[in-house]
Amino acid sequence: MAIERENLLALPLDVARERISAFLEARGEPRFRVDQVFRRLWADPVRTFEEITELPRALRSALDEAFTIPGLELVTEQASSDGTRKFLFRLDDGQSIETVSIPDGDRVTFCISSQAGCALQCAFCATGVMGFARNLRIDEIAGQVRALALMSPPLRATNIVFMGMGEPLMNWEAVSATLTILNRPEGFGIGARHITVSTVGVLPGIVALGARPEQFRLAISIHAPNDALRRRLMPINVKYPLAEVIAAARAFDRRVTFEYVMLGGVNDQGEHATELARLARDCGAFVNLIPLHPGGAGGFLPSTPSEMRDFAARLRREGVEVAIRRSRGMDIAAACGQLRVERLRRRAPARPDEDGEVHVSPGVGPRLDGGAA
Ligand code: SAH
Repeated sequence: MAIERENLLALPLDVARERISAFLEARGEPRFRVDQVFRRLWADPVRTFEEITELPRALRSALDEAFTIPGLELVTEQASSDGTRKFLFRLDDGQSIETVSIPDGDRVTFCISSQAGCALQCAFCATGVMGFARNLRIDEIAGQVRALALMSPPLRATNIVFMGMGEPLMNWEAVSATLTILNRPEGFGIGARHITVSTVGVLPGIVALGARPEQFRLAISIHAPNDALRRRLMPINVKYPLAEVIAAARAFDRRVTFEYVMLGGVNDQGEHATELARLARDCGAFVNLIPLHPGGAGGFLPSTPSEMRDFAARLRREGVEVAIRRSRGMDIAAACGQLRVERLRRRAPARPDEDGEVHVSPGVGPRLDGGAA
């Protein structure tokens, strides 16, 4: 009778340690072996128990009979001329997810996914186009960081943003356990202030994140400064309207960041800046203006650099702190969902892609006329 081996990487950190400890104790192993095994889960990861050469061979085999430590399968990697690298991983059920590594001076930020696909259907986002498949498990979220640490040479993150595929606060249990793994010294040891959870404004999730004692950062994807426009760009606004999102941001005990993707002629006008400034002042938010990454969805156009500067200047005059983000990985389709969309497209014989660039729904209007969106 085959006994199911337990996946140690799919367990919350403390539970994994208990499992290892109970297993070793039952075998009569010395106490120090617990740490020898435990640190190999995340802090100093290995691909197989066999690689933990400081353990006796018989113990390595016994661990392998009781547990698994599965890795993510790397399907493809793209490197941008600016140093940004994008990875597509295949999961055990055939789903695929993306992770992006973004170097910037001394920092290396990993942008990680929390769901396969996404249910939210934001009008400009490539991930929304593919729909929602499922939540990722702990070993699949934290496993993205682990997989890059296992590459040669290892790729180590100093910062993490939950800005890959999916809505992290709709997969809170696994995301919360992952935050612990990322932050604790027995995990990846990344400071809580260097870990940012990005959300469309899922209220219960914001409360849960705020209740954590660590100083994890919260970014809210605002993208529109009033309910009418936001509903059209972000359907979730029907369930969680702006006023409630702003109230949640005010109640959050740390300073929040607003993400605001600049859509030419859609949300980048002077009156939008004035409305946005009021919201930001209301909850003391810092505003990040993000250039629209081409190849998202919905046929939107990016605002021009001078329009972005004007918008930022207006926010500043209204007493709001603001930064204009540089777009990274422009040549590798590095925005949310784009690499997976590109792979699917390449497989479709109906639409050959000579240069590997992605253009989702080219020519389709943004539909801000009260139409289908
Ligand atoms: N669901 C979460 C996290 C994933 S998306 C959230 O929405 O915050 C991370 C950020 O990328 C969000 O602000 C999202 O709106 C933005 N984004 C999606 N598609 C984009 C594109 N084509 N160009 C620029 N930003 C994009």
